[in-house]
Amino acid sequence: MSVPQTPGPTLCAIALAVLAFGCGEWLGSDGGTEPTDHQEPRNLNQIDGDGTGPTEARPEDLQIVDVAVPTPNWALAIHGGAGSANRATTDAEDYYEALREALSLGAEQLAGGEASLRVVENVVAALEDDPRFNAGRGSVFTTIGTHEMDAAIMDGRSLACGAVAAVKNVRNPIRLARRVMEDTRHVLMAGAGADNFGVVAGVRREPQAYFSTERQLERFRELRARRGASQDESGDSAATTAGDYTGNAGAPAALGGASHLATVGTVAMDRYGNLAAATSTGGTMLKRIGRVGDVPVIGAGTYANNSTAAVSCTGRGEEFIRHAVAHDVSARIEYGGLTLQEAVRQVIQEKLRPGDGGLIAVGPDGAIAMEFNTNAMFRGAADSLGRFDVGIWDEVRRGQPPSEQPEAEAPP
Ligand code: ASP
Repeated sequence: MSVPQTPGPTLCAIALAVLAFGCGEWLGSDGGTEPTDHQEPRNLNQIDGDGTGPTEARPEDLQIVDVAVPTPNWALAIHGGAGSANRATTDAEDYYEALREALSLGAEQLAGGEASLRVVENVVAALEDDPRFNAGRGSVFTTIGTHEMDAAIMDGRSLACGAVAAVKNVRNPIRLARRVMEDTRHVLMAGAGADNFGVVAGVRREPQAYFSTERQLERFRELRARRGASQDESGDSAATTAGDYTGNAGAPAALGGASHLATVGTVAMDRYGNLAAATSTGGTMLKRIGRVGDVPVIGAGTYANNSTAAVSCTGRGEEFIRHAVAHDVSARIEYGGLTLQEAVRQVIQEKLRPGDGGLIAVGPDGAIAMEFNTNAMFRGAADSLGRFDVGIWDEVRRGQPPSEQPEAEAPP
């Protein structure tokens, strides 16, 4: 069920004692609840006494008070794939920049009042156009040296969704997924039929050569040569190998031989409280032709529901399908009463195996969760409270948000 929500500052009665002892954890998680420049954690156990400085609070001083807990008016998270990324790389800076660019685009649009559905589509389309990522231009190769792309988009307000699988000539598969959602009575279209629908829908088309980049070609040749000795060319073993997911190897040359997958995804909550998710990928390097991963499978790689969360996943697609990961996060919130952060952590750290991948999620209150069980996940998070973070490995780089736009009157 979807319930439109109106986010904004929340006024709630909280025992001061609870604030004093409970906020450490609330402010310390990797979700949208980390302390930022704007939300300095305060030691509320210290109160001013006789004016000579802070003194220890006595139990009788603690009382029920109304506390305004700031919640963001909009929130956004992006990912550029999970996997194994080598720290000794010079191109990491290039990826930080790419993440910042995509984050700025989405943040500006959300701040300007754009609907979350349009924003996730636009941000993913921009990442598809960026040859550094394994989606649209920059997609990986199948065993026979072709490109087949998957994408999905979902509207948390209505549960409307659209997806395409194994398309070959659509410049921005995410835009075609949106057309499937808006213009057909279907949810998922695949192969030649989906490509043909792209012609009818009037989305931009490109020849296969457009999707090939030097970076991926180099990796394709390298991997094919390596596999020739030990495996068949299907890439089947990649999905079952233990350790960080390396089946895709999205930006290996750039990352010093690392195997980061570089699939892209975006989740957002807009000023009207609506959630949306979008994900796009070229799939896994050396996949069989016709192989479809989790990304276009609603509930596996992509899901959004206004009353729970918007989720976009990246990693070993077969595992994410098997465990219905994106919907599982939503279900744990809906039926289990878990917070977004708890639900995401349980699914990624307890249900999946180490090295399988990660996900980004946003909740109806604007909380953001970004969890992964690989050594790296390319990611970014921004919100109306001034958060503007990008990260590749565990640590997060804080940055400057684009300037706030004026308040919008009504949804477009
Ligand atoms: N999950 C994607 C797939 O299996 C790959 C990725 O996230 O990199 O197609």
